[in-house]
Amino acid sequence: MSTFLELGLKEPINKALTDLGYEKPTVIQEKAIPQIISSTDDLKAFAQTGTGKTAAFSLPILELLDSSNGNVQAIILSPTRELAVQIGNNIKDFCKYLPDVKVTTVYGGSSMEDQIRSLKRGSQIVVGTPGRTVDLIKRRALKLGNVQWLVLDEADEMLNMGFKDELDKVLEATPETKQTLLFSATFPREVEAIARNYMTKPVEITSGEKNSGSENVTHEFYAVTERTRYPALKRIADLNPDIYAIIFCRTRRETQEVADNLIRDGYSADSLHGDLSQGQRDSVMGKFRKKTIKILVATDVAARGLDVNELTHVLNHKLPDQIENYTHRSGRTGRAGNKGISIVLVNGKEKGKLRQIERIIKKKFIEGKVPSGKEIVQNQLMNLIDKVHNIEVNETQIGEFLPSIYEKLEDLDREELIKKFVSLEFNTMLKYYENSKDLNDLGRETSRSRATADNMTRFFINIGRKDSLNPAKLIGLINDQNIGDKIEIGAIDILDTFSFFEIDKNFEDKTLDAFSSNQPDSDGRSVNIEITKKERSGGGRRGGRKPFGKKDGGFGRRRSSEGGSSSSRRSDSSRGRSDRRSSDRPDRSDRNSGGERRASGGFGRKRRES
Ligand code: AMP
Repeated sequence: MSTFLELGLKEPINKALTDLGYEKPTVIQEKAIPQIISSTDDLKAFAQTGTGKTAAFSLPILELLDSSNGNVQAIILSPTRELAVQIGNNIKDFCKYLPDVKVTTVYGGSSMEDQIRSLKRGSQIVVGTPGRTVDLIKRRALKLGNVQWLVLDEADEMLNMGFKDELDKVLEATPETKQTLLFSATFPREVEAIARNYMTKPVEITSGEKNSGSENVTHEFYAVTERTRYPALKRIADLNPDIYAIIFCRTRRETQEVADNLIRDGYSADSLHGDLSQGQRDSVMGKFRKKTIKILVATDVAARGLDVNELTHVLNHKLPDQIENYTHRSGRTGRAGNKGISIVLVNGKEKGKLRQIERIIKKKFIEGKVPSGKEIVQNQLMNLIDKVHNIEVNETQIGEFLPSIYEKLEDLDREELIKKFVSLEFNTMLKYYENSKDLNDLGRETSRSRATADNMTRFFINIGRKDSLNPAKLIGLINDQNIGDKIEIGAIDILDTFSFFEIDKNFEDKTLDAFSSNQPDSDGRSVNIEITKKERSGGGRRGGRKPFGKKDGGFGRRRSSEGGSSSSRRSDSSRGRSDRRSSDRPDRSDRNSGGERRASGGFGRKRRES
């Protein structure tokens, strides 16, 4: 692995990267930076979001540009305003120690005059959305005659959004001699056509498999019905106390409804879609970045520019119309070396799409089970206990209160104290999930999972995701116990701090014996298993419970019953509802938002009119 200096970047750039905490180049940076520095050949780069592609194209440009010359030398086009702003800000960070380099970001929805003024002062780098860039070219405020680099970032998305005409116009305004750098996560026909028509023998680089999903993302699907889709979503959120997720929806209306319901049910959630004003979108994104909001419900387009590295989950409430978009969605998690999970809720009809997606991401979906109430309670409990274990005690501050606390609790022994403390936190939740129903769409289960119900024994195992367990590791661990030849392993559910697996009933005793006599350990933690009863449908109760809440990851807040849907409390996220017709359609709002102009006619794909 090289350093940034070894890739050919000068010290001021390296220093800025050190300040940003970039220790070593990512794969795409290692490939793109020396290539662009040493050659004027066009470049076609296959790169997912989150792979460090912004630095991959902008650092070599910063290395090569002439900072004594105020002409526009690089134009970077990006599909959305948010992404353009993000790229512009990233580049400004990269040139912290290059005082003569100026960057202007141009996009709709913001003062054209300010942008023109900034351009007049002289900028070597312009980052823009296609619509506003073309407007400024037409007004002669943006002159691209001296451009040496044209970057098309997220080219697939620009074409999906119908920006073909704008791209043509920008390309026309740039000189033949420029170097074109095209970055895209997917390469459908339309993008290949751009590469063919506008690039000369481009060099191809990739940060991984073409069109494949991030290595760090596990893909799971849960079989649900329309009735259980929303309750299943809530259970997933409840199972993961530290969830920090985007829930993707197809339409603005669906987005608003899911967000409204989550807020009503006490979750720390808000919505992001094209019916919101730019100010509202900025505010929601700001809160989500600061984690004031833990769950963001968004359309594909609206979530485009959101750069958050620590998402634990991407939840697909409904799959996107264009399955290529699934890569974009799932690529929002598993970034910057973190692990992530992308969960898809599918009904029987939607299941077929999974296979198409598997071909694109070159990975298999793992069938997950909507967690039972008991599993959720168990997970939350263990999580709380872990937190108690790990909490740092501030002796000096708490010291003065301790004597009176000890005195008050004098009559309770250790066991009683633990029971009372756990009950304080969990009574409402236990009640909420008492007799909760199985939400899995059993009628739609695959033959494999149906078989497991009869022939399999379900085991609890005391390690989970937090112990870096994944299905492959668990299978390896089971095989290591030499239970028997070719024993069948059924469904596997990996949870945060523990997991479940199913094994051929005939090997039930042998499995228990093997684990108890081998005493395996996982990273120093002793592993144990026990048989757990399979949960099937119970009689859920409806209405008016006062269960736990999720707002800041703590408990004790208002929550309505599982599966309730009528909204009594309107949150401020119900602002911006628009009429049903347009909101029911896939969100293409960024094309119009903030003054971006609409091109007539789509490119390759038929755009729906909204
Ligand atoms: P991008 O794919 O350009 O959106 O980058 C994804 C995230 O990774 C951004 O938050 C970057 O700041 C971060 N990043 C990019 N390159 C590096 C690097 N070499 N080291 C650490 N973080 C990086």
